[in-house]
Amino acid sequence: MDTRCPRCGSETVELGEKSLEIGVTRKDPVSIRLCGNCGMVFYVHIEKISKF
Ligand SMILES: [Zn+2]
Repeated sequence: MDTRCPRCGSETVELGEKSLEIGVTRKDPVSIRLCGNCGMVFYVHIEKISKF
């Protein structure tokens, strides 16, 4: 999981997690990140390992 800022490439801090609704039935967990350098707030998709 790449948690660096997509704008400036700096390290970011996590503000929290939430489930982002994608469509009607799908919810994806995301990490809310804040860049300490440029102040950008963005979501990072949390990749859960699932085996079937
Ligand atoms: Zn940044």
